[in-house]
Amino acid sequence: MARTLALVAIVLASLAMVVVGAGTASAATPPAWPVVGTTATGPEVRTVQYLLRERGSQIAADGINGPQTVAAIKAFQSANGLNNDGIAGPLTWSKLVMDIDSGASGNAVTGAQHQLVRHGYDLVADGAFGPATAAAVTDFKTKKGLSATSLIDATTWQWLVAGTPTVDGWSLPLARTALPRGEYDDPHHDYPAIDLPVGTGTRALAVTTATASLVNDSSCGKGVVLTANGVRFIYCHLSQQVVSAGSAVEPGQLVGYTGNTGNSTGPHLHFGVKIGSTNHCPQRLLLALYDGTNPPTPSSLPTSGCTN
Ligand SMILES: [Zn+2]
Repeated sequence: MARTLALVAIVLASLAMVVVGAGTASAATPPAWPVVGTTATGPEVRTVQYLLRERGSQIAADGINGPQTVAAIKAFQSANGLNNDGIAGPLTWSKLVMDIDSGASGNAVTGAQHQLVRHGYDLVADGAFGPATAAAVTDFKTKKGLSATSLIDATTWQWLVAGTPTVDGWSLPLARTALPRGEYDDPHHDYPAIDLPVGTGTRALAVTTATASLVNDSSCGKGVVLTANGVRFIYCHLSQQVVSAGSAVEPGQLVGYTGNTGNSTGPHLHFGVKIGSTNHCPQRLLLALYDGTNPPTPSSLPTSGCTN
């Protein structure tokens, strides 16, 4: 992804969060709509595509915001009095989603079903809003503090699209809103690992249940290593470590704040997966966690192919 577009998306996402989250702390406050930039990929792009198809666009629902999807978003925005920039932000999402309920069929239903699958429901995305889909929606809404019905209204869509899926036993090393998906497949500059471009003070989270140890050296700077079943998850260049050596951590637990310590040319989180003396490529693991799908076992992660 072009770095400028990624940064624009981050800034827009931050602004959207401020607006949507302002002064609210209720458990039922939905997360901010994701900002789907013009080179975005991932499950929210696919939802945009299914909603556009439901509204008559002849585009593929491939999860890639390519030229045809961008053109369809622009046309939709123009038709709805929105700034036609091809970027699906909160205003576009609000116009794009539609109420659907039991008995409905079509692309919007398929889109919702894909999101339900992402949130862990065992459904076939067949475009038919039958009893299994209704039960999944009702359960999902109940867990989010919404009314226990099968109606997928705008708020339900927002939770489906923007809510962080829970993969049992795992968490992304950053809040899902901290970076767009495209940052999680970037190659590393030398050995297998990944550099996640976030500003100093961003919360770094434990990816899984593990035992923490601390690193303080000129390479990693202030670092945290989480060891789980012989696999070491390595966090470097932190501005602050907030776990103590030997402590047990849970998925999603704050382990430190990102920074620019050690051998680092700018604020970022270096994240590595190491088994014995072998570095594995973390990209597939991180993408699975971002998408809310079952992650590959760390030992199955490749040991080459993620460097440039
Ligand atoms: Zn690095």
